[in-house]
Amino acid sequence: MPSVISTDVLIVGAGVAGLWLNARLRRQGFSTVLVESASLGGGQSVKSQGIIHGGAKYALHGALTGASEAIADMPRRWREALAGNGELDLSGVRLLSEAHYLWSPGTLAGNLTSFFASKAVRGRVDQVKGDQLPPALQDKRFKGKVYRLAELVVDVPSLIQRLADLAGDGLLAGQTIEPLLEAGVLVGLKVDGREIRAQRIVLSAGAGTAELLEHLGLSRPAMQRRPLHMIIAKGPGLKPLYAHCLGGGTKPRITVTTHPAADGQWVWYMGGDIAESEGVAREPAEQIATAQKEIAQLLPWIDLSTTQWATLRVDRAEPLQTGLTRPDNAFLAEEGRLLVGWPTKLALAPDFADRVIASLQRDGIQPQATEPLPPLPKPPLGVPAWEQLLP
Ligand SMILES: Cc1cc2nc3c(=O)[nH]c(=O)nc-3n(C[C@H](O)[C@H](O)[C@H](O)COP(=O)(O)OP(=O)(O)OC[C@H]3O[C@@H](n4cnc5c(N)ncnc54)[C@H](O)[C@@H]3O)c2cc1C
Repeated sequence: MPSVISTDVLIVGAGVAGLWLNARLRRQGFSTVLVESASLGGGQSVKSQGIIHGGAKYALHGALTGASEAIADMPRRWREALAGNGELDLSGVRLLSEAHYLWSPGTLAGNLTSFFASKAVRGRVDQVKGDQLPPALQDKRFKGKVYRLAELVVDVPSLIQRLADLAGDGLLAGQTIEPLLEAGVLVGLKVDGREIRAQRIVLSAGAGTAELLEHLGLSRPAMQRRPLHMIIAKGPGLKPLYAHCLGGGTKPRITVTTHPAADGQWVWYMGGDIAESEGVAREPAEQIATAQKEIAQLLPWIDLSTTQWATLRVDRAEPLQTGLTRPDNAFLAEEGRLLVGWPTKLALAPDFADRVIASLQRDGIQPQATEPLPPLPKPPLGVPAWEQLLP
């Protein structure tokens, strides 16, 4: 029988939310155990585009209000952490781009008037031209306007690796999770039969959270899945591009980020409107053809002749949206010792950790001296989709 474990905070789900929270808590002297059933970051986190939004995208359709600016502070907090002097020491994590760009291919600048007046972007957006343009847009045929947003793009696999290092001996590979009850009250969890008692239990299992709640006999908080059909291209003709390309609507027509593949080539990872509802309905071959047409029209100088293509279907997991839910805050619900939530964005992992820490402080939860952990089986690191689909 495996030994019984006592810890301060037991976290289930090692995506960016669970890993970031775990590292913050350990830094504050709490003991933690972080349980993962598949791979570290392998859910949504390594499938994300890695953009550390500051809210500019939401300002485009007026959704970012003065009262919901947690996200506006995220680029600063990440920048400090990446420099090694923030709330976590993330020095060594690879930064893919210092900026994300907003690119308006036609004469859409009129649509941008209220955008530039909004608080989220004021003083943080500069138009760029000529050799300041992202490499993929540097061609004499390029028309349109490009603005530089003060939003970073991080290499998520290296982020997950660093957060896993900061997790020390607290990572646990575990599949079967059952409630550990005492007089009908949840006091911990049984993970693969091993009892783990904790002062607080946090569920940050992304799309797996709904099922975990069901297992614990709870129906709330309710979760929603938002399906996406992303496009992946890899080839020698692709140069770095980190940009939202604007269409006529309120959402970016296409959002391109560029990632290093293990073989040294660049991968374009494409989302935005193209990956949402209509894109989800398309078959993979149709989705690829749609992306090829978009690129041929927007960037006709890009040589796609030797490019390899794939698509990836993945769901975003979020709290069920109501008219009141803002897209730019992390979400946390509490029930006794149990805390349940979704960061809603990779960028908002710090906000998710803040909410858990505020709850612990409010309830007077302090680090308690606990026995050192026994050696635990570790989950593997998540692998980017392009390494699996376009090896
Ligand atoms: C295509 C795409 C692009 C995105 N781009 C961006 C972006 O550019 N910027 C941004 O800020 N956000 C972006 N996001 C959103 C962002 O990826 C997510 O909000 C964030 O990664 C969620 O982190 P998480 O830790 O909650 O979930 P996940 O990363 O999904 O992690 C949850 C973990 O829990 C584990 N788990 C599930 N069930 C169990 C169980 N029963 N027991 C133990 N473990 C379990 C899973 O295996 C997984 O590892 C994007 C999302 C998608 C899908």
